[in-house]
Amino acid sequence: MAKKKQQLHLDSLVVHGSQGFDPLTGAVSFPIYQSATFRHPGLNETTGYDYSRLQNPTREELEKTIAKLESGAHGFAYSSGMAAIANLLQLFKPGDHILVSDDLYGGTFRLFEEIYHESGIVFDFVNTSDLDQIKFKDNTVAVFIETPSNPMMKIADIREIAKKAKQHGALCIVDNTFLTPYFQRPLELGADLVVHSGTKYLGGHNDTLAGFLVVNDAACAERLQLIQKSLGAVLAPFDSWLILRGIKTLSVRLERQQANAMRVAIWLKEHKKVDSVHYVGLPDHPGYALNLKQASGFGAMISFSVKSKKMVAQVLERVSLIYYAESLGGVETLITYPIEQTHAAIPADLRARIGINDRLLRLSVGIESADDIINDLKQALEG
Ligand SMILES: *Cc1c(COP(=O)(O)O)cnc(C)c1O
Repeated sequence: MAKKKQQLHLDSLVVHGSQGFDPLTGAVSFPIYQSATFRHPGLNETTGYDYSRLQNPTREELEKTIAKLESGAHGFAYSSGMAAIANLLQLFKPGDHILVSDDLYGGTFRLFEEIYHESGIVFDFVNTSDLDQIKFKDNTVAVFIETPSNPMMKIADIREIAKKAKQHGALCIVDNTFLTPYFQRPLELGADLVVHSGTKYLGGHNDTLAGFLVVNDAACAERLQLIQKSLGAVLAPFDSWLILRGIKTLSVRLERQQANAMRVAIWLKEHKKVDSVHYVGLPDHPGYALNLKQASGFGAMISFSVKSKKMVAQVLERVSLIYYAESLGGVETLITYPIEQTHAAIPADLRARIGINDRLLRLSVGIESADDIINDLKQALEG
């Protein structure tokens, strides 16, 4: 008799994934199907798997898992977050207009402005935390938002933007890398597509690159599947397994990272060498109330400005437990300097408008002891 399916909480879904175990052997760790091709049982017969660019059982388990976590019907896994976004952009054609959060991951900005702009797609970078700036044109086909944004942690109203997009026949696309489905599920709020850099919190261990798209609409999913198998930037079986393993601990990692981030943000705010702290979990953050209306947590990303540019080099050179490295979301606490690294591709005037200055540092808080993270920042700031 089939076991009755119960509605599981996200904390359980992350551990058990889509299928979870291997039905053939009962292995509780889903197998890595390290095979490029699959033997056909007979003429015009297939096991359901033909060639790993089209479909691979390990990748499929991961794709179904991310779809389930995001409350979506279809998930797609790619070799990186940028590969996911490049696949997404293949849905559009020359002449299309896309509204984009002006405060966003530098690599996404570069892909849009230096690659897709060349092929005739027009992007407008606006402050999507201000609904008045979201102005649709006749050729607007999509709104692409990050919330919280990177690195200024601005919050965009997913419900309202999705509603406006729908009225104009445009897609609402949300890069959900910072909060993950554990804290925020954009499809439940009306968005059409979710994008992830799985390299970050989903993988969680700074050891693998990955990217995802999740969608409900069947026709859009069919097109994305064609694009995925045609472009070929699929996630490899071993990397798919690593991300599946990472996702199992997503809820415990994020709870710990968020608790640590809250302590670090409060401590930074009081520090006399720190000018400003941007953390969504601080009640005086401008997006605090809106974030609580659409998400169940604040995440663990903080940006802060030190009082002088001289301090930047001092902090980056003196941190020791904290690594001075790009990326975010993993168990290790990392610090970066957006103006020179993650956001170097963004032109100076746009950076200035957004608020990315030469004193801004970005911290991805890990799962170490909060006391040790604070002590490391203390010795780095105070010398
Ligand atoms: C890192 C990142 C990306 C790009 O993902 P990769 O896996 O590095 O290709 C896209 N969006 C956001 C918000 C990111 O942080």
